[in-house]
Amino acid sequence: MLQELTILNPATEEVVATVPTTPPAEVDAAVRRAAAAQEVWAALAPGDRARLLRRFADVVDAAIEPLAQLELREAGHPLGNARWEAGNVRDLLHYAAGGVERLTGHQIPVPGGLNLTLQEPLGVVAVIAPWNFPMPIAAWGTAPALAAGNAVLLKPAETTPLTALKLAELALEAGLPEHLFQVLPGEGAVTGSALVDHPGVAKVVFTGSTATGRRIAAQCAAQTKRLTLELGGKSPNIVFADADLEAAAAAAPGSFLDNTGQDCCARSRILVQRSVYDRFLSLLEPAVKAFTAGDPNDPASQMGPLISAAQRDRVRSYVPEDAPAAIRGAVPTGKGFWYPATVLEGRPEDRTAVEEIFGPVAVALPFDDEADAVRLANATDYGLAGSLWTRDVGRALRMARAVAAGNLSVNSHSAVRYWTPFGGFKQSGLGRELGPDALTPFTETKNVFLATEPAGS
Ligand code: NAD
Repeated sequence: MLQELTILNPATEEVVATVPTTPPAEVDAAVRRAAAAQEVWAALAPGDRARLLRRFADVVDAAIEPLAQLELREAGHPLGNARWEAGNVRDLLHYAAGGVERLTGHQIPVPGGLNLTLQEPLGVVAVIAPWNFPMPIAAWGTAPALAAGNAVLLKPAETTPLTALKLAELALEAGLPEHLFQVLPGEGAVTGSALVDHPGVAKVVFTGSTATGRRIAAQCAAQTKRLTLELGGKSPNIVFADADLEAAAAAAPGSFLDNTGQDCCARSRILVQRSVYDRFLSLLEPAVKAFTAGDPNDPASQMGPLISAAQRDRVRSYVPEDAPAAIRGAVPTGKGFWYPATVLEGRPEDRTAVEEIFGPVAVALPFDDEADAVRLANATDYGLAGSLWTRDVGRALRMARAVAAGNLSVNSHSAVRYWTPFGGFKQSGLGRELGPDALTPFTETKNVFLATEPAGS
């Protein structure tokens, strides 16, 4: 077990910080403290819980700049993106706060009495977050879990614990009860696994790779533990001949290069109708080359480095340096885990067209007609997102129904919005996060019947 994590700036390879890890014995102590704090939290009046969450949101708002700077330094995200991410945490907290007083349950007509449903908190929730969007993804689980009356133990990724630790400080500053929201940095196989196994943890929210998600699901199954999984993707960007090709080509780079392609929704398979395939690639090339990779502090930078040397090795293992690429962008030379924007051509069965690469790499494939587009789009174990470009409204709706994915956009690559539901079909996940029902998965539904007739009647 590592005693501490060494946090590197992925753009410069400089050491930013060292952070002590959380051994299993400390995980146990944290769960006990969280359980005690949860009882206090759940007993507060809903309006008071909501007020404290709004105060937490305000404190985060006042700390957007230091949070963004931390995200820039530990994850290499361009400053504009990092500021947006910190603002997203604020918005998630406000949105979740609005749900506290709306966990209303139902009154269901029954003979001989009154039937109520109550949404009870689960207790202690573990949120295991990845490194690709450290702040927003941590908050997707944390904000609704707290709003529903739970305590949260957040295990950030090994490479990106700094923003999470700062958020825990801000929660205390906002007046949330001590130990209600704790951050436990450490290795997945040690700290993360101890959390998943702990009988005092009622639910696990995991975002990361499908392989780790499956392992965690098996561990949770042993205790019938509640679980939400947000896993990988290999999402299609489907361009029909009748689309506004200029608009589709202009939008495509952001859809697989944003966050340096380290995005579970990255549209990393570009499916183009054969009759416009060559024309589309010729429009795409200048757009990809204009997507600027560079110093995350430079406002002109749209793309930073990959998170780590290991991730760069992983991406390289898919695309050797000398691999023939249809399009290749430029990156800074020297220090930093840089990898250029790359568009490959290939066959649908190629490893690059099937597996999640999690880097700035897309594969372009031609298709013949609508049926062929559906077949190709669904020829994956994943089902997280997808985009459809066409001027034919009927086709857009037919395709949106036929593509097996949780999040589709037509003539856009819509970002994830905290007020709309998000999650995956097939191997991309289990359950949904965000949206109007975000609090429900952090509750148990209890059904209560009150007899109104005298006993025995
Ligand atoms: P990972 O899934 O192993 O790690 C994600 C989180 O889970 C981290 O906090 C990690 O510490 C924790 N974890 C790992 N093993 C665990 C275990 N046994 N028990 C409990 N927690 C555990 O991802 P990774 O190794 O950082 O990245 C590998 C690949 O996963 C990437 O290249 C990418 O393809 C994919 N990935 C996908 C997403 C996504 O949002 N879908 C996010 C991160 C990584």
